[in-house]
Amino acid sequence: MSCIFCKIIEGKIPCKKIYESDTILAFHDINPRAPVHALIVPKVHVKDINSLNPEHSRFIVDVFDAIPEIAKKLNVHKSGYRIVINNGKHSGQEVFHLHFHLMGGAKLGV
Ligand code: 5GP
Ligand code: ZN
Repeated sequence: MSCIFCKIIEGKIPCKKIYESDTILAFHDINPRAPVHALIVPKVHVKDINSLNPEHSRFIVDVFDAIPEIAKKLNVHKSGYRIVINNGKHSGQEVFHLHFHLMGGAKLGV
């Protein structure tokens, strides 16, 4: 398996960890496009939204449970933040392990 996020989850590639549970991991994006730019990934390898099935419902709920806590840790809870999922080629998805971008720390462009 050559998935970079699976390697980060397995600890084979280092990351700046923000939050971890049994189902998800959050860490700082290596190439931030906002003052705060975190990635939230499920620990199970899922390629994209199209590949989701009902067995994945637990981690989806866990992601949304964790987002406010992660935002508090990053000090953007009150100022606001954007959650983005790129899905597929036209969206610019580069890493084919489903992930949620959390961006904030300044007023974001559209
Ligand atoms: P995508 O374009 O697939 O939605 O986003 C992939 C994100 O992963 C990009 O923002 C990119 O900067 C980030 N990324 C790629 N490789 C690494 C890495 O090895 N470590 C970290 N922390 N982020 C990465
Ligand atoms: Zn993966």
